[in-house]
Amino acid sequence: IQRTFSIIKPDATKRNLTGQIVAKFEEAGLRIVASKRIQLTLAQAQHFYGVHKERPFFDELCEFMISEPIVVQVLEGEDAIAKNREVMGATNPADAAEGTIRKEFALSVGENSVHGSDAPETAAEEIAFFFSGLELV
Ligand code: ATP
Ligand code: MG
Repeated sequence: IQRTFSIIKPDATKRNLTGQIVAKFEEAGLRIVASKRIQLTLAQAQHFYGVHKERPFFDELCEFMISEPIVVQVLEGEDAIAKNREVMGATNPADAAEGTIRKEFALSVGENSVHGSDAPETAAEEIAFFFSGLELV
């Protein structure tokens, strides 16, 4: 059993798609073990996407991520990291497979509705950044 970190991004919360996205996680066998709605500060968004700070889309990405509240979650299941990324679909919705969250809901490569951790180390870091031990059972 593995845990991963997920964000339902501003484009999706704004369009009231949280429930439909969570349903896709659950249908894929992922359990929601923690969930809350927050709004990132610019400093938090810049820290979270720090690996992308030299990329041309960094400023736009951070502004987008603070533009509306987001829903941060911890998902649990067998191979949760890979399973979550499979349900999310490719980063660019134009490349995303049928039935994936990004195929159905994403607006563009930037406003692509969801984030999911890409490895066990980043999952652990991201979970610890957003959730305290008390919030995780
Ligand atoms: P995430 O890390 O959000 O789960 P990912 O791992 O599929 O998505 P990354 O390459 O890590 O994609 O990029 C992080 C985020 O940066 C993307 O989800 C997207 O919102 C944004 N992004 C990536 N590439 C571009 C681009 N070419 N133009 C604009 N935004 C982009
Ligand atoms: Mg990524």
